[in-house]
Amino acid sequence: MVENNLKHILSELPPEVKLVAVSKFHPAEDILAAYNAGQRRFGENRPQEFAAKAASLPSNIEWHFIGHLQTNKLKMVLPYASLVESIDSLRLLDAVEKWGSEHDRVIDVLLELHLGAEETKGGLTEEEIEYILSLDSEAEDAATLPPKAVYQHVRFRGLMGMATNTDDVSVVEADFARIEAFKKSLEDRYDLPDFTELSIGMSHDWPVAIRHGATIVRIGTAIFGPRVY
Ligand SMILES: *Cc1c(COP(=O)(O)O)cnc(C)c1O
Repeated sequence: MVENNLKHILSELPPEVKLVAVSKFHPAEDILAAYNAGQRRFGENRPQEFAAKAASLPSNIEWHFIGHLQTNKLKMVLPYASLVESIDSLRLLDAVEKWGSEHDRVIDVLLELHLGAEETKGGLTEEEIEYILSLDSEAEDAATLPPKAVYQHVRFRGLMGMATNTDDVSVVEADFARIEAFKKSLEDRYDLPDFTELSIGMSHDWPVAIRHGATIVRIGTAIFGPRVY
């Protein structure tokens, strides 16, 4: 089943768009079934489960962390994560910078924009994202001034967002159009050579996300079936 689902999605996904198979709540066997079918990029959203799977599954898996991350759980996630997609507060960003500095690592991250209508969804506001990027570009511009070196251990790779959970496609379209336009305006105004990724789209809305410039889609249910909580 997993193999067929994966084949079906890959047959419809433009080849340049990266597929994150979201394996949260599914056992290692399911991940291996997808792995044996050729899938190498997986996403998890709970630190403990992420660490246990990453430590025991093949080391050439590219792991994305996609959930809310508390600052006291960084050590479970950052050693394994190729990309932390869900930077949702300044406090978390500062903690990741500190961890990177202590471990002499540069951590690839996406800034999560609060996108959907739900208040319960996490994420940064547009103003907070502007603030973060302006701090960083000031640090880089200032050739003649002592460097401020705000985020030397974090590489900003782009934006992540979750659309409103609704069957109304026009609402989802509007959410994805907003994040697409916001990313473009950031690229126009800041010097961000690595800021190339737009992670939007899940099982039920990824075809809409593709029309709005998704470079990464995060698909769970449509690959692994429903999650049992
Ligand atoms: C669970 C999850 C997904 C995948 O959701 P599906 O609807 O199962 O495809 C994508 N992104 C995030 C952030 C998630 O938590």
